[in-house]
Amino acid sequence: MTSRKLLNDCFLTDKDRLSHEECLAILTSRLSVVAGIEEVPLGKTSGRWLATDITAPRNVPMHDNSAVDGYAFAAPVTGPMPVVTHIVAGDLRNHRLEPGQAARIFTGAVMPEGADTVAMQEDCTVNGDQVSVPLNLKRGANARRAGEDVAEGSAVLQSSARLRPQDMAALASFGLARVKVRAPIRVAILSNGDELLEPGAEIAQGQVYDSNRAMLQALIDTLPCEVTDLGILPDNAALIEATLTEVAKTHDVILTSGGASRGDEDHIITAIDNLGTRHLWQIAVKPGRPMSFGQIGDCVFLGLPGNPVAAFVCFLLYVRPSLTVLGGGNHQEPVRFPVAAGFDVPDKKPGRREFWRGWLEPGDGGRPVAHKFARDGSGLISGLRQATGLIEITESMTSVAKGDLVSFLPFTSFGIDS
Ligand code: AMP
Ligand code: MG
Repeated sequence: MTSRKLLNDCFLTDKDRLSHEECLAILTSRLSVVAGIEEVPLGKTSGRWLATDITAPRNVPMHDNSAVDGYAFAAPVTGPMPVVTHIVAGDLRNHRLEPGQAARIFTGAVMPEGADTVAMQEDCTVNGDQVSVPLNLKRGANARRAGEDVAEGSAVLQSSARLRPQDMAALASFGLARVKVRAPIRVAILSNGDELLEPGAEIAQGQVYDSNRAMLQALIDTLPCEVTDLGILPDNAALIEATLTEVAKTHDVILTSGGASRGDEDHIITAIDNLGTRHLWQIAVKPGRPMSFGQIGDCVFLGLPGNPVAAFVCFLLYVRPSLTVLGGGNHQEPVRFPVAAGFDVPDKKPGRREFWRGWLEPGDGGRPVAHKFARDGSGLISGLRQATGLIEITESMTSVAKGDLVSFLPFTSFGIDS
């Protein structure tokens, strides 16, 4: 058994709200990998975190070979050459040319010994068993060199890299059939609130369909995780504590939404304080103030605000990096594109970072301009849907005028397709 001690418990703050940077730094520095390692067939590794460094075990390509269909020879040439052999891709024999000879050759076929250049068939003239090739071809033209893609022994991928389709092509090109990757981490999700109702059920006055669980499941599915769906818990302290206690024994992470403030009917924070340790609660970020983080035994607890927009934004900003680190991945900050604002906001409150729902449209000269969803309410799912990314407004900013540069963080850098 590896030690699963995740964090030390001397850290607690709820006096001052943490800044975005502080919150992210705490999450990414205090969490460590809990995922096990498994060997998986290459075709099943897409999107998984690599668990070893990969060094190229051989040259790719392994042999010098032809990039075109044509005629191979040693450059330079002075006139017609006899065609002495015929080499197709997959031909395992050794072929050898004497000076002044040519070989008929096809794309991917191994270059014969004694040849260094290939003329494309379209540029050649055949007369009986003689071929005339262009006399000005540069030595090495249309020939691929052994190791020109990847040289044997070179570092290709580092442990904790996310395996992308093109990485899988590289691993296959080395002949690797199985790869050591991190096992998915076990994440339990639940929603909390007396008003919440399962989609599909008959709705009554005062009830709200739970829109967070389906959304969170889809967001978690962008990372290697196994999700346990615990459904909706009512605002009942004893039931919440009993559930969290049980679930913490068998999961790496518990992710909740709702009940995260300090109202009389918000029991999540109290439950964490009673059952384990709370490491942070409340951040100077909008939307998302009551984001919480703690642990129950070795199970990490992440508490999202209930409003769907806040839950979504905090998932991208804080939960996704946390699941990445716990899962054995390499957390990379989303790319921030500086773009001109296409809107005016005369009065932004200083001291907190805001993430507005936005999208890009072509402006003057085709340069992208950021547009903002007009209304700010953190319950407005329509704003999330209209958006293709977040517009980041830092703590020190107090207004935005049309044309000011703002940072745009596309949802695609959080694993969400457009
Ligand atoms: P709370 O964090 O429990 O104070 O909830 C804040 C707001 O978000 C309230 O209006 C809740 O009804 C709403 N809310 C909480 N959880 C969900 C959910 N799973 N789906 C939709 N709305 C929710
Ligand atoms: Mg509630």
